[in-house]
Amino acid sequence: QKEDKTADLKNDEGFKGHEMLAPFTAGWQSSDLNPLVIEKSEGCYVYDINGKKYLDSLAGLWCTALGGSEPRLVAAATEQLNKLPFYHSFWNRTTKPSLDLARELLETFTATKMAKAFFVNSGSEANDTQVKLVWYYNNALGRPNKKKFIAREKSYHGSTLISASLSGLPALHQKFDLPAPFVLHTDCPHYWRFHLPGETEEDFSTRLANNLENLILKEGPETIAAFIAEPVMGAGGVIPPPATYFDKIQAVVKKYDILFIADEVICAFGRLGTMFGCDKYNIKPDLVSLAKALSSAYMPIGAVLVSPKVSEVIHSQSNKLGTFSHGFTYSGHPVSCVVAIEALKIYKERKIADQVKSISPMFQDGVKAFSDSPIIGEIRGTGLILGTEFVDNKSPSDPFPPEWGIGSYFGAQCEKHGMLVRVSGDNIMMSPPFIISPKEIDELISIYGKALRATE
Ligand code: PLP
Repeated sequence: QKEDKTADLKNDEGFKGHEMLAPFTAGWQSSDLNPLVIEKSEGCYVYDINGKKYLDSLAGLWCTALGGSEPRLVAAATEQLNKLPFYHSFWNRTTKPSLDLARELLETFTATKMAKAFFVNSGSEANDTQVKLVWYYNNALGRPNKKKFIAREKSYHGSTLISASLSGLPALHQKFDLPAPFVLHTDCPHYWRFHLPGETEEDFSTRLANNLENLILKEGPETIAAFIAEPVMGAGGVIPPPATYFDKIQAVVKKYDILFIADEVICAFGRLGTMFGCDKYNIKPDLVSLAKALSSAYMPIGAVLVSPKVSEVIHSQSNKLGTFSHGFTYSGHPVSCVVAIEALKIYKERKIADQVKSISPMFQDGVKAFSDSPIIGEIRGTGLILGTEFVDNKSPSDPFPPEWGIGSYFGAQCEKHGMLVRVSGDNIMMSPPFIISPKEIDELISIYGKALRATE
């Protein structure tokens, strides 16, 4: 008889952990919760408090790119903790790790030239920072009315007030009085769900670019400051862009002098089989948001990359406008920076983007082989990111009744067989660590298959 180690997390009234208000968790106030308590990680696996092992098919929250036990990242953090656990980067003081990381990042991002890196602690803070940079930029240029942002339905850009406003997911808006009025949303580029009968991917992209242009003209181009997009949409259900989409969208935003912000928080550092999503889709952004795999999630850190076009205005106008008064105590935290520097070194030494590219067909084709299942509408993805959508009759307009809980049932079956997936309604998402091996991909596919058979 194995001892249940969750027992000491419970009392007579049930689970004790409801003192914690947990993020994105329904019913945390109830004492009959039985959360999965994770205690340890090793490569692509995590272990719960009772020692049960799970293949972590989402890499934490799309972030533990090098898996859960990379000794070089631990060593880098430990060495820095012993030397200088903290110093800030305000008022012309800083630390060598933050200077080094800024230089490394600018060298690593080659889709277009970037001039500056601004450090934050998360993807949400990166996107909040984008809004302030863009507003400061337009104020500096004497264009105080050019302040609106266009984002896309189903996008996810974070959960602070501003980044949740940019996001296009109703759950992030309802009950929070969001989105903020300066944010507009345009079409989600999901071909399978939204294309018209007979419309090719290219035609679909043309229609979406036209819709974007019409929105800009309706609002007045002089009021639109920036467009923000994830190269592949993540939390909205894993939605890669349809053919020619970013070419056409970029042409529109360029025409109206609107800045392009690439939210690379999930896509960067190899996830799509290229170092950045911008490399894969030939995106030439003015601003880039980074987080997650930047440190392989071992320490919280994010960054905003700023193009010469934007940074030159900010620098040349700061006499007039004053300091860019924005930043966080932990902007450029030295421990986070050394971990990120080491992660970047590892990505380069191991040619991690090429590694993802060569292993991803096994992952993509292996899971997509289940596409014929009568309960699956679409399996979609690229590189090491994949989404499954359950629908009735193979049709995007026939969702299963939510009370059937098809997605949750599938997720629970995966968990039973030793794999963690992300469930969002009837969407299932996976984005394993970049280091996943062929054997582990076989295991992932086998558990996926078992869970699917049980759900059908
Ligand atoms: N942007 C994208 C594309 C994301 O996927 C996420 C998080 O999943 C964020 C921003 C927000 O990042 P964070 O949770 O670190 O604030």
